[in-house]
This record gives sequence, C-alpha cells and structure tokens, in this order.
Amino acid sequence: MSNAFESLAKIQADLNALGAASALMDWDQQTYMPAGGAEARAVQSSILSRMRHEIATSDAMERAIREAEEAAESEEELALVRIHRRSFDKATKLTPQFVEEKSRLTSEGHEVWVKARRGNDFGLFRPVLEKLVEMAREEAEQYGIDDHVYTTLLDLYEEGATKADCDRMFDAIRGPLVDLVAEIRDCGRQPDNGFLFGDWPIEPQRAFTERIAGAVGFDFDRGRQDTAPHPFCTGWSVGDIRLTTRFERYLGSAIFGTLHEAGHGMYEQGSPKNWDRTPLAGGVSLGIHESQSRTWENLVGRSRGFWTRFLPDLQQAFPSLASVGLDDFVRAVNRVEPSLIRVEADELTYNLHIMIRYELECDLLTGALAVADLPEAWNEKYRSYLGIVPESDSNGCLQDVHWSMGALGYFPTYSMGNLLSVQFWTTMTQEIGDPEAGFAEGRFEPVFEWLREKIYSVGSLKTPRDLVLSVTGRPMGAEDYLAHMSAKYRGLYGLA
Ligand code: ZN
Repeated sequence: MSNAFESLAKIQADLNALGAASALMDWDQQTYMPAGGAEARAVQSSILSRMRHEIATSDAMERAIREAEEAAESEEELALVRIHRRSFDKATKLTPQFVEEKSRLTSEGHEVWVKARRGNDFGLFRPVLEKLVEMAREEAEQYGIDDHVYTTLLDLYEEGATKADCDRMFDAIRGPLVDLVAEIRDCGRQPDNGFLFGDWPIEPQRAFTERIAGAVGFDFDRGRQDTAPHPFCTGWSVGDIRLTTRFERYLGSAIFGTLHEAGHGMYEQGSPKNWDRTPLAGGVSLGIHESQSRTWENLVGRSRGFWTRFLPDLQQAFPSLASVGLDDFVRAVNRVEPSLIRVEADELTYNLHIMIRYELECDLLTGALAVADLPEAWNEKYRSYLGIVPESDSNGCLQDVHWSMGALGYFPTYSMGNLLSVQFWTTMTQEIGDPEAGFAEGRFEPVFEWLREKIYSVGSLKTPRDLVLSVTGRPMGAEDYLAHMSAKYRGLYGLA
C-alpha cells in the first residue's frame, strides 16, 4: 500500500473497531443479555453509531479517500477506494434531520408494529406505515433517483441491482413456480413429516448441529454457535464468526437453521487474512450472501447424499427416528406446502412469499396502492399465488419486521440468493462434476474448496454483478434455478 493509503487505513481501523464493538453488543443482546440491559444498551449502541457516522463523514475521511483515489493502482487498492467512496457518498447524502427523524420513526414504528401484530390490529400500524412509506420515498430522493425509486432503495442492500432486474427475475419465475406448487398441492402424494416434530432434548441437537456445521467446513477454532430467537450470523474478524440457531418442536429448525447460518459464516471466514478488518473482507452483498447460506442449507443439506451420511448419526442422537427410512426422511425434509408464514416456508414456495412483498412494495412506493388497502391486496395475492388466504393480518401483512424498520427494497435479495445459489452450483458441477455422491462418505471439500476459490476468497473485491459474471460467465438468470426446481420436485413427487 502506498503512503496515500496510510491515512485512509488509520481512519478505517477506528471505524472497524467501533463497528466491531457495535456488532458484539448486538450479538450479546440477541443471545445472552438479560432484559434489564436493554435500556442502557440502546443508549450505548446509538452513541457508538453516532461516533462512527461522525468519523465516516468527516473532512479527514473525504480527504483520505480523495488522496487514495488518485494513488490507487492495484486491483485491491481500486476496490478499496470504490467501497469507501460508495459508503462515504451514501453516508453524506442524507440530511442529519432526516437521519434523526428516521431513527425516531423506526424505533416508534417497531414498537407499534409489535403491538399491532400481537393484537391483530392493522389499523394501529396503518398511520405509522403510511409515514414509513413516505419516508422511504424521501430517502430515495435524498440519495438521488436516477432510475426508479425502487432501484435507489434496493441499491442500499444489493449494489448495482435495479428494479428491472427484479421484474425480470419475478416475471421469469412467477408462472412456473405457481404452476408447480399447485401441481404438488393437487397430486395427493404429500409425504409424512410428523416424525420430525417432538419435544427434542437440547444437548443432542446442539451436538448434532455443531457436528454437521464442522463437517461441511465451518471452522470452530474461528467461530462458535449459540442460540437466538431469530437466528443470524455475525462477526468482527475472519478469526471470529458467530453463528446462532434455535431449538424448536420441528427438528429441522435447528438443523437447517444451522446449515444456513454456517453458509453465511464460511463465506465470512473465507476472506483472505490480510484483508481482515478492512472493507475488502466479508461478503459483498445480501444477495450473494444468501446464495451461500442457501447452498449449504438446500443444495447440500436437503440432498439424499447428505442424509445417507448423517441420518444414522441423527437416529443415534434421537432414537425415536430409528425406524425412519432414508427415502422417507429425504421426502419429509423437502415437503412442499403452501403456508402463510415466510420464515417457515419451504424451499419451493419461499420465492412466492418474496414476490408478493416485492409487488406490494413497488405499488406502495409509486402510490398505486394505498396503505389502507394493503391487507386486502396482500390476501388477494396469497389467494392467487399460493391458493391460501390468511385468517388474520397478524399472519398476513403484519408478519414481517422489515417494513416497521423502514427497510423497503430489501426482500428481493432473498430471491436473488435462491437463484444465484443454483446458478453457482450449476457452474460448479460443470467444472468439477456432481459432488453429491461424495456427500454419502462425508466428502464436502470439493464444494467448499470450489466456493472458497471462486467466491469466499474474493470477499468484496468485485461488485456483486462482476462476481456473478466472472464465476458463471453470465448475469443472474432464472434458467438454472427453474430447471433444478422442476427436476428435483417432479422427481420427489413422482410428477410427469
Ligand atoms: Zn440468510
């Protein structure tokens, strides 16, 4: 690194330390903090955020970025200044009054949303949501709308992605997924999954989930797993990545939750060590991150090969499963059933939940849909895409936390992750062959090594779009995903 990068590196180190402290406090809050800590923690967190914001938007920071931009030569240096420039521009576009007002409205909004969902009272949340939608429009205007208000908001989570990308994605999957889900629902061959529900003891679940996370490649010398009501993955160094899971009546919650978060975790652990504590380390976007969690959760974790290896271990840990055969088990963990709640949705119906939110967000932001008409519009879309209608708004348009936090434009990254997981997988199998036969013998390194080389080790060096292009040779598309879903589920359900 040249001298011009030294002052940038110093400021970056401060930002990183403050960010690490915030992330650690957040991790603690969601895992171990007693309820009595909430009030003090909220104050402490907001002070750390303010300090970070002050440094990130300082004159010194701007000067350091400008000097580094002039001196940047290597690919790493160019990427570093690109990332810093993007963060600086985003952080300085919003007026301080707006940031304060948004923070006030979202913390109030979250509280009202919790009450409204608990009491099934959309009317209570409606005025807040009206303000939040208005505020999202205002936010997009302050960032600057070059393309569409939705593109501006989406770009906060997925650099370079546009509303047109989302439209193309959902236009491609809408018809085929709705039809396939309906065919499965009507075929009358729903597998039994009752044996996966029970009062499972916690210790064997902890041991089993840690064993499979370690087997697929999560490094427990550089990470650990704890429990949280809403599982997540976080970290503050390539040497310290934290997974969380939860233990529920459905045994799959812990198993697939762990594999999902371990997928996020391996991506974070896989950045080059010399990038640690710089913006080059870690996953590049929400969509690419989700592609990595879905790979291990669905493409590996729900495969026959995986369970050929691990069903005997699971049966040893939970003797009531001793009589379940491999085929029945694999069908049970791949059961497709239209349901109302996104976070509990199966692999196939999941994208339909996302598509509904995307369509509604677009209409809310453009004013085509009034907030007052949201419950009816929500229910109509569930009827038309999934063939079911929520019996309450709590299980309908009030179920997700995102809108109460003012996060509009976030949802499509989940679907992008699903599509990209299969697009990467398809490229991988073309290059190294189908790895599934090796799973039965516990061999996951071919997949891990391929992902490490092509994706993990690239960290945030390339933009999401460039990464997809360089790995698969084409932009994100739906063909691989649709072909995979059709073949997999037609096979499992014996459809023609
Ligand atoms: Zn995830």
